[in-house]
Amino acid sequence: MSMSKQSNKKKQVINLKNVKEYNYSLIFNLIYSNGVISRADLASLSGMSPTTVSALTAEMLEEGLIEEIGTGISATSGRKPILLQIKPDGAFLLGVDIKENKYSCCLFNLKNEIIASKHEKLTEHQDIGKDILNTIDSIILESYIPRERLAGICIGIPGIIDLKRQVMIKSTVMPENISSSFIDQVKKAYTHIPVIIQNASCLYAYAEMHFGAAKGTGNQLFIDINSGIGCAIIINGTMYTGANGIAGEIGHMTIDINGPVCKCSNKGCFEAMASVPAIIQRVIQGILLGRKTLVRDMIGDDLRKININVIRDALTERDSLTCEIIDDISYLTAVGINNVINLLNPQAVIIGGEIQGLGEYFLEKVNSNIEKISLNSELSKIKVSFSNIKEYAVEKGAAKYLLDQVFFSKSETIKMFLEA
Ligand SMILES: [Zn+2]
Repeated sequence: MSMSKQSNKKKQVINLKNVKEYNYSLIFNLIYSNGVISRADLASLSGMSPTTVSALTAEMLEEGLIEEIGTGISATSGRKPILLQIKPDGAFLLGVDIKENKYSCCLFNLKNEIIASKHEKLTEHQDIGKDILNTIDSIILESYIPRERLAGICIGIPGIIDLKRQVMIKSTVMPENISSSFIDQVKKAYTHIPVIIQNASCLYAYAEMHFGAAKGTGNQLFIDINSGIGCAIIINGTMYTGANGIAGEIGHMTIDINGPVCKCSNKGCFEAMASVPAIIQRVIQGILLGRKTLVRDMIGDDLRKININVIRDALTERDSLTCEIIDDISYLTAVGINNVINLLNPQAVIIGGEIQGLGEYFLEKVNSNIEKISLNSELSKIKVSFSNIKEYAVEKGAAKYLLDQVFFSKSETIKMFLEA
């Protein structure tokens, strides 16, 4: 046999394995997204033969990932088909969300339902790896789930991630030298399952796409407005992070070339003009200039007490200084968002983060400004919404992302450990 024939044969074996993995993933995901489905419908939706569907679902049944329901005789049309659904406790996934001085861990079943959660304070970044491992241990113990049914861990990190190398490149929240070592610690303790990291805003957007305000849309912009302004981009159902993982840095897009100097040293960045601290600074300036405002009555002389809630309360009372500032901020926000809309033509734009505290007044102003400045076309019309996942958004996104990673590209991995 010639060398080329040998390598062709090898190639064919690899491709067959990939086809099997792909088919397995497709069937699993069809069951997941349909809730309850028959083998016949799986065959017609997937285009696979009934024999292939039967073989794959038999495998999933044996692995305990799906279950049969709805057998019996129908009075009208003979035998009811046996229906299949995901077995919620077939496997469990752990989502972790790390913030500046706290972190939380959530355990999910295969239906993305929360089984248990824990919030912990983060005092010493040095101990974060050990702390997370202890928290994961106690969640598993207290939930009474078989440890071998944990299918993976996904950690949401507030920073720029090198996805290929799975290390954090930069974070304004965590010291760089700590980041990689704590991830390695978790990986070493769970070598038999996937332990992955991803940017926290991306995971938030992923949760919005699957369970929240952007449900059913594959092209989404998620704008996270806190002390900084970040953005997660979802294109065709996949996170877009750019060549080096820094796509979505809209906080440093210029929205006024003559604007104030930003911490990145450029002028008029979106973040320098419309982040939460920028809004608070505008209110403080108004007070220092002697403007009459309800904010002053609410906080007395302590300007440090001004926060987003105080500003919202003043807005509710239609305080003139506050309305003036928020009208301007919502215009700047609309300009920043509209630039990205023009670039990407998303189906959904979601605003998350602390800025949501400003409430509907702000959101309505952003939308009316976008309507005014957007390209006047039916195709470009879009309504910006607030996030509607009230809690554990990053963790929910982490669990779903992990599930998709495991079942779409690494279906063999989960099967390996489930068989072990
Ligand atoms: Zn900047």
